[in-house]
Amino acid sequence: MHAMMLNAIGTPLAWTELPERQPGPGEIRVKVTACGVCRTDLHVVDGELAHPRVPVIPGHEIVGRIDAIGPGVEGHRIGERVGVPWLGHTCSICPYCRSGRENLCDAPGFTGYTHDGGYATAVIADARFAFPLGEQGDDVALAPLLCAGLIGWRALAMAGDARTLGLYGFGAAAHIIAQVARWQGRSVFAFTRPGDTASQDFARQLGAAWAGSSDDTPPEALDAAIIFAPVGALVPAALKAVRKGGRVVCAGIHMSDIPSFAYSLLWEERQLVSVANLTRQDGIEFLGLAPNIGIVTRTTTYPLQEANRALSDLREGRFDGAAVLVP
Ligand SMILES: [Zn+2]
Ligand SMILES: [Zn+2]
Repeated sequence: MHAMMLNAIGTPLAWTELPERQPGPGEIRVKVTACGVCRTDLHVVDGELAHPRVPVIPGHEIVGRIDAIGPGVEGHRIGERVGVPWLGHTCSICPYCRSGRENLCDAPGFTGYTHDGGYATAVIADARFAFPLGEQGDDVALAPLLCAGLIGWRALAMAGDARTLGLYGFGAAAHIIAQVARWQGRSVFAFTRPGDTASQDFARQLGAAWAGSSDDTPPEALDAAIIFAPVGALVPAALKAVRKGGRVVCAGIHMSDIPSFAYSLLWEERQLVSVANLTRQDGIEFLGLAPNIGIVTRTTTYPLQEANRALSDLREGRFDGAAVLVP
């Protein structure tokens, strides 16, 4: 097999040949057909997460087909199309796992971070954490649903029944969640980097009622806002834009420091929360609904060997929607 390997934090990924791996007990081997590029991959490469592990193969928005099955695996078959998400393993015994919050597990495994991921021609996964994808939809179009869609879905649920919803940072996750929110009958207000009129146009094409810069005041007070961009300064900006009792949801795994702000921005029962990871239940719900919603993902594909270019294009905001690597 081949992979784009991170050998040291802050260095470019290296095209590497590896011995074919065999799945162990409870594991499957998936021949990768598409792997989305997530902002979290940039945080992995930059060493911004708490427990960086190298060498590692990044990538956790994996679509592929099972080509080997380890001992003791039930409910999967060779040739089946599956998705392998960020949540790669949980302990099943900690208080979080036992209370339906496995996203907060005390001893988790994460694909493309603590375990090798999908910037590769094949990946080994814990079979219990792979989602059957059926045969509807194209592999490349589905890949961004595996994290941008799933974490976005969890963040949207966390936003409650907000009728007016702000999305800060209009990248892969927001372009999916804007479609879900519209389908649910909410009004979407999209905030981009100042001057990024291309992303603002893109948001309006996807049904946003309004799109503007992150420092603009929206035409209506927001019931809730989700921050997808890793920019701490957006927290006070979003708090300023939500109405009394409104909620601001931080959906990223990493964010630059939040600047100090006046208590009056939080006063009047405004809430500030974060979303961490996903549960398998989130995946089952979202992937079950996605075909009915008719989500259309905008993707830019790159050959697997050009993963470094995909990452730098993501860093510089050179495309709208999501980047997807194809082996
Ligand atoms: Zn656990
Ligand atoms: Zn991700």
